Amino acid sequence: MTVRVRFAPSPTGYLHIGSARTALFNWMYARKHNGRFILRIEDTDQKRSVPGAIEAIMDTLRWLGLDWDEGPDVGGDFGPYIQTERADLYRHWSQWLLDNDKAYKCFCTSEELSEMRKEQLAAKKPLGYDGRCRWLTAEQVAAREAAGESATIRFKMPRDGVTIIQDVIRGSISYNNEQIIDSVLLKSDGLPTYHLANVIDDHLMEITHIMRADEWINTAPLHINLYRAFGWEPPVYAHLSLVMNPSGKGKLSKRTQAFQESGEEIFVQVEEFRKAGFLPEALNNFLSNVGWSFGDDREIFSMEEALPRFSLEAINPAPSRLPYAKLDWINGQYIQNMAPEALAEAIKPFLAEAGLVVSDDVLLLVMPAMLTRLKRFPDAIPFLDFLVDAKDGTLEITAEDLTHKKLPADAALRGLQEARAFLSSVEPFDLDHISQGLMKIGEAVSENGKAGPFLGKMRLAVTQKQVSPPLFESIVALGRERAVARLDRSIALF
Ligand code: GLU
Repeated sequence: MTVRVRFAPSPTGYLHIGSARTALFNWMYARKHNGRFILRIEDTDQKRSVPGAIEAIMDTLRWLGLDWDEGPDVGGDFGPYIQTERADLYRHWSQWLLDNDKAYKCFCTSEELSEMRKEQLAAKKPLGYDGRCRWLTAEQVAAREAAGESATIRFKMPRDGVTIIQDVIRGSISYNNEQIIDSVLLKSDGLPTYHLANVIDDHLMEITHIMRADEWINTAPLHINLYRAFGWEPPVYAHLSLVMNPSGKGKLSKRTQAFQESGEEIFVQVEEFRKAGFLPEALNNFLSNVGWSFGDDREIFSMEEALPRFSLEAINPAPSRLPYAKLDWINGQYIQNMAPEALAEAIKPFLAEAGLVVSDDVLLLVMPAMLTRLKRFPDAIPFLDFLVDAKDGTLEITAEDLTHKKLPADAALRGLQEARAFLSSVEPFDLDHISQGLMKIGEAVSENGKAGPFLGKMRLAVTQKQVSPPLFESIVALGRERAVARLDRSIALF
């Protein structure tokens, strides 16, 4: 048997971090078993569909590296993979259910349904459709149709007995059938509801395992009964534990609510993480740890390392909160392992957005110093904005700031002047020569013969910032002319 799993988002907006975790687990399961990962768009609720959302979701999944084997853009043997393009199929199968006495036409108008609801509320009865059209005779149905009344198609849910869901993660769950209403399968506009489309597609696309968010578990008994009505074998169910809001109450929802609950910066869309400067590898690492764990107390691992260990049985059914606090640390670990060239490339768009134009050579030069200092890519901005003259001078320094207890004013001034002369003429203007020359000057001017205090002050003079890359890299990055000009300004303070 080839494992076939699907991620089936509704295009209602950007990809939510909880959905990304669902996609990731499906992808991991497919890759582990050399199976197929299918992307299917569930867009039958047209009122909730947002233009551009399909592209946005696909773009985010691509960024995460969760490649799909079949889907709207790549096609496949079971397409189309967008549900609104499959409308004929749903109509065909709902007719089949009618013909086989597994479904019925319902003529209840929305007014009638809300009246029913009011009555149920008043009588403190259970809410939901009471099945009143289920018992219409064939003649009554024909007459109402002839009169031009529009109808939905509802499922004839078995009225007694129980439906048992065998879920790999949640175990076995039993539902009383009488509590499950006769759901609408086909709306009066001819489009299916989620239930019908989902079941038909999972069957026709030969899905073997359904991994989806726990919030869908209550639809499973209806779905199982639909499979039975069609005479089809249901896939294996694995409902993934809920990803919760920071308070631990309710599912992780919209950003504002999550933010209010935690009081901290909380992202809920994958795009927000992307824009904030997280690496997709770090995000996958982080998400795979939500409800599953690698074992051996290991927190940093690649997906290749995780796949052999991944199993549905090992997924914890308990709801979990995203360990946001860990994410910066995880991302920092990934950044440390990046090649300087890759880091430079990754940082560039963030610098550009902040209006910092830094040449490739200069960027590369400061990257080794950056590797251990960044948690997120934009952290590079305050480090590197000393390179822009317009930003230089933001720190108002005085002559006193450029002195130290081991480096009184006269020594500091002398050191800066010697450094100026040295930097104006040193050839070549590179790290080795600059570091040797400035060390010597520093040792000569400090009272204790150590270069440290002077070099610290040089850094302040040249970058005019408390945070910056190391001094020698900063000087090379600035270039001779600008380094000397900044020293001139510092010297003028004395
Ligand atoms: N379209 C549903 C969603 O947006 C998918 C539910 C399922 O996977 O069955 O989450």
